[in-house]
Amino acid sequence: MMHGNLVCTQCTNHFSLTDKIWKCHCGALLDIEFNAEFPIDEIAKRSTSIWRYKEAIPVPDSHIISFSEGFTSLEDAFLYNIPLLIKHDYLFPTSSFKDRGASVLISKISEMGINVIVEDSSGNAGTSIAAYAAKAGIRCRIIAPSNSSKSKQNQIITYGAELELLKGDREKVATEALKEAENTYYASHSWNPFFFQGTKTIAFEISEQMGWKAPDSIIVPLGNGTLVLGVYLGFKDLQKAGIITRLPRIIAVQASECAPVYNAIEHIKNPEYNKSIAEGISVQNPVRKDQIIEAIGATEGCVYAASDNEINMALKHLYSKGYYVEPTSAVVVGALRRINPKMRGDTSVLVLTGHGLKHSFSQL
Ligand SMILES: [Zn+2]
Repeated sequence: MMHGNLVCTQCTNHFSLTDKIWKCHCGALLDIEFNAEFPIDEIAKRSTSIWRYKEAIPVPDSHIISFSEGFTSLEDAFLYNIPLLIKHDYLFPTSSFKDRGASVLISKISEMGINVIVEDSSGNAGTSIAAYAAKAGIRCRIIAPSNSSKSKQNQIITYGAELELLKGDREKVATEALKEAENTYYASHSWNPFFFQGTKTIAFEISEQMGWKAPDSIIVPLGNGTLVLGVYLGFKDLQKAGIITRLPRIIAVQASECAPVYNAIEHIKNPEYNKSIAEGISVQNPVRKDQIIEAIGATEGCVYAASDNEINMALKHLYSKGYYVEPTSAVVVGALRRINPKMRGDTSVLVLTGHGLKHSFSQL
């Protein structure tokens, strides 16, 4: 029996971790209260998967759905002559870091005995949920905008998921998914708090790979906040457990064409939203926007916005150095030269999130 609770972010409601709910009765987002533990000597003996940190993940290990994914490499490197630790977080079964969240969420869903789920995603979260649902034998329906990447649509269908394409933007798709989720379980990478209990494992890996220390900063793309909030939760778990003393500054990068968090922090009134080549993070209304702003503030971090031109230049730079990632991943490199060196600090981890092969077809 796992100790911990689902807690509402708005009212005082607490729920058991085994309740089949993904939002509070009052309609607000849920978070998870849970005491993560890190038996370091035991962890060192385990296989290199995210589940080596099982005492820090609020899902019993009797129902794990996993491809033994995770523990992606952390490389000492230079980009634009800036020293960095590059976390290769596209090295996953479906080729994106979202597998961290999918493994934990689908494990939880399997534990609860749920056999039909719905998710909305324009790409990587949908492919991850589809793959892990296939492994678990859970029926899965993914709702996506009809103009989303064809190669990702293809990947979703290949795993046997039902794909429903809707005309309109992501907000419309999210609204439809919320409607369908009233009668089923919403395996959402933005609403469902268990997804973030998976993405947080990146913090544990980085820390372990650095000798159970924290970097000065971590540079991540920002759309729905699955990585920003994951990084924040993970390093907070490590801090609470007394393993690290201070949190790394979270430096989040949005695409200039769709930068709601950047606009809010910079007090930009009536911003315009346009299509960006960083489609994976083009989210106009991230449901956890307030939490994202709070997390970045709590780490004394900051938000940058990179233009499509900068992202394209960054992609070329990455390719020329032998890195093959999708445009959404390159957003962090797009802003890299403008990031204040004091903000970066001496040790800065830059996360690459999605493989270039995901995008290859649309480039031809
Ligand atoms: Zn509530």
